[in-house]
Amino acid sequence: MVKICPKCASTHVHWLAGGLIGAIYRCNDCGYEGTFVLEVKPSDLEKFRKEMNSDPENHETD
Ligand SMILES: [Zn+2]
Repeated sequence: MVKICPKCASTHVHWLAGGLIGAIYRCNDCGYEGTFVLEVKPSDLEKFRKEMNSDPENHETD
Protein backbone atom coordinates (compact mmCIF):
# COMPACT_ATOMS: atom_id res chain seq x y z
CA MET A 1 0.00 0.00 0.00
CA VAL A 2 1.14 3.55 -0.72
CA LYS A 3 0.07 6.64 1.17
CA ILE A 4 -1.53 9.34 -0.93
CA CYS A 5 -2.80 12.84 -0.26
CA PRO A 6 -6.61 13.05 0.18
CA LYS A 7 -6.68 16.45 -1.55
CA CYS A 8 -4.56 15.97 -4.65
CA ALA A 9 -3.79 12.23 -4.74
CA SER A 10 -0.06 12.89 -4.73
CA THR A 11 2.21 10.20 -3.40
CA HIS A 12 4.61 12.86 -2.11
CA VAL A 13 3.23 12.51 1.39
CA HIS A 14 5.72 12.56 4.22
CA TRP A 15 5.40 11.75 7.87
CA LEU A 16 5.73 15.02 9.75
CA ALA A 17 5.21 14.24 13.42
CA GLY A 18 3.59 11.72 15.62
CA GLY A 19 2.56 11.16 19.17
CA LEU A 20 -0.44 10.46 21.31
CA ILE A 21 -2.80 12.04 18.79
CA GLY A 22 -1.42 9.95 15.97
CA ALA A 23 0.83 10.61 13.02
CA ILE A 24 0.63 13.86 11.10
CA TYR A 25 1.45 13.88 7.41
CA ARG A 26 2.31 16.64 4.97
CA CYS A 27 1.84 16.66 1.22
CA ASN A 28 4.70 18.26 -0.70
CA ASP A 29 2.53 19.00 -3.71
CA CYS A 30 -0.46 20.88 -2.26
CA GLY A 31 0.68 21.62 1.28
CA TYR A 32 -1.98 19.50 2.95
CA GLU A 33 -1.23 18.65 6.56
CA GLY A 34 -3.26 16.29 8.63
CA THR A 35 -3.63 12.98 10.35
CA PHE A 36 -5.67 11.53 7.49
CA VAL A 37 -4.07 10.09 4.40
CA LEU A 38 -5.42 7.56 1.98
CA GLU A 39 -3.74 4.26 1.36
CA VAL A 40 -4.15 2.47 -1.92
CA LYS A 41 -2.55 -0.43 -3.68
CA PRO A 42 0.09 0.71 -6.20
CA SER A 43 -1.88 -1.05 -8.93
CA ASP A 44 -4.97 1.04 -8.03
CA LEU A 45 -3.18 4.37 -7.97
CA GLU A 46 -3.83 5.42 -11.57
CA LYS A 47 -7.45 4.37 -11.34
CA PHE A 48 -7.84 6.33 -8.13
CA ARG A 49 -6.32 9.47 -9.65
CA LYS A 50 -8.66 9.27 -12.63
CA GLU A 51 -11.63 9.01 -10.29
CA MET A 52 -10.40 12.02 -8.32
CA ASN A 53 -9.98 14.07 -11.51
CA SER A 54 -13.51 13.24 -12.61
CA ASP A 55 -15.01 14.35 -9.31
CA PRO A 56 -17.40 17.23 -10.17
CA GLU A 57 -16.58 18.98 -6.90
CA ASN A 58 -12.97 19.36 -7.98
CA HIS A 59 -13.71 21.19 -11.22
CA GLU A 60 -12.13 24.57 -11.58
CA THR A 61 -14.43 27.26 -12.91
CA ASP A 62 -11.98 29.33 -14.90
ZN1 LIG B 1 -1.66 17.03 -1.80
